[in-house]
Amino acid sequence: MSSLYIHVPFCASKCPYCDFYSQVGSQQQIHDYVTLLTLNTEILQQSTPSPQPFATIFFGGGTPSLLSAEQIEAILNGIQQNFGINAGAEISLEANPGTVNLEQLQGYRQAGISRLSLGIQSFNDNNLQRLGRIHKADQAGKSIAAARAAGFDNLSLDLMFALPGQDLSGLGKEIVTLLNFEPEHISLYGLSFEEGTEFAARRQSGELSSCAETLYAEQYQLLHEQLTKAGYEHYEISNFAHPGRRCQHNQIYWQRKNCMAIGAGGHSFVDKGWGERWHIPTNLDLYRKALQHEKEPAEILETYDRQAAMREYVYLGLRTCDGIDRHEFKQKFNTHFEQAFPEALEKISRYIHTNSTNRYFTADGWLLYDHLISHFL
Ligand code: SF4
Repeated sequence: MSSLYIHVPFCASKCPYCDFYSQVGSQQQIHDYVTLLTLNTEILQQSTPSPQPFATIFFGGGTPSLLSAEQIEAILNGIQQNFGINAGAEISLEANPGTVNLEQLQGYRQAGISRLSLGIQSFNDNNLQRLGRIHKADQAGKSIAAARAAGFDNLSLDLMFALPGQDLSGLGKEIVTLLNFEPEHISLYGLSFEEGTEFAARRQSGELSSCAETLYAEQYQLLHEQLTKAGYEHYEISNFAHPGRRCQHNQIYWQRKNCMAIGAGGHSFVDKGWGERWHIPTNLDLYRKALQHEKEPAEILETYDRQAAMREYVYLGLRTCDGIDRHEFKQKFNTHFEQAFPEALEKISRYIHTNSTNRYFTADGWLLYDHLISHFL
């Protein structure tokens, strides 16, 4: 199984809390970037020992919905010609509700996008304004209706929590609205104050404060309870899905499987030896120059040894409800999970569950994830 991530580093405006690699881009810059992505696909194909058709493709960003349906189609055509795309492949695209309309969404469907991920974040205008989002709550509803009308039957909605001034009752209302739309998939983001962002500076100056730990935990638990009660599987720390609707592409990350990348800011993982991570630098000039000289723009970030590979496998696996398959661990690393991490497992024994094949966390463990997982690292 082979997967591809495509990074689109443009947004209509920069949200003050966001530290993803993205910038405000002109139509001309976006047009040129689409040409570069096709060139990147050709160069990637030439440097790949045995190119396979992709089973999952993910357009992430940034705001990939700033690209027209024709531009998405051109990128997918390049991928089809160079690698192939499996029949029935999961092809996801992240869209900002403030940048889409019915015609455009119909075009995406026709171009082959099978899964749409809408960055709703909140159904409350005050929250959206505070977050610096370009859309209003009624646009969120309209974009969901347009996605359905365009034929998207695999829809993911993003919701943020732990927002400034948000209490449990406010979040409860957001959850009711969210569930009314019956998305197949939900991704949650607790607001964090990342270094270098406008929000971090505003917290530093005392203008904003982060959500108290107890309130954060109560909000996370409320989300877990309400969404699982509504029939969603809480299958990863921040992700919920109807049965059979987990995001296949993201599961590839958590399972530490091969995933290629194109686009400035893209990260890839090569399942070679104990694993390699590569990235394409977050610099559009360097990206363009490398491609114009027919050079692979990706640079190696890390080559793993066995110990580092085991640690990362556990770090990623325990994020999911499946956790660590003990048989698979033994096959991969030629040692038992329990033998590899005896002390860590003893320290976290209260939180880790065991069934006949796997060891895993539930929502209680995920709330303390950073602390618990630190014992393995
Ligand atoms: S739209 Fe998304 S990627 Fe763009 S700045 Fe806002 S949060 Fe970041």
